[in-house]
Amino acid sequence: MAYKISDECISCGACAGECPVNAISEGDGKYVIDADTCIECGACADVCPVGAPAAE
Ligand code: SF4
Ligand code: SF4
Repeated sequence: MAYKISDECISCGACAGECPVNAISEGDGKYVIDADTCIECGACADVCPVGAPAAE
C-alpha cells in the first residue's frame, strides 16, 4: 500500500523534494502521492510539519 496525504496538508511542499521517486505533486488544495509510484520509504512523513502523509 502506498502512502497517502490527508486533508491536514498545508501545501508547504517540503515532502515533494524528499521523495526519491518523485511521486509527490501539488494537487487541488493539498499535495498528492501517486500510489503507483510510491515505494513506501516514509521520507515524506518524516519531513511533514503536520503529519499529513501516512501509510494506508
Ligand atoms: Fe515518496 Fe517515500 Fe513518501 Fe512514497 S513514502 S510518497 S516514495 S517519500
Ligand atoms: Fe503537505 Fe506535509 Fe507535504 Fe507539506 S510536507 S506539502 S504539509 S504533506
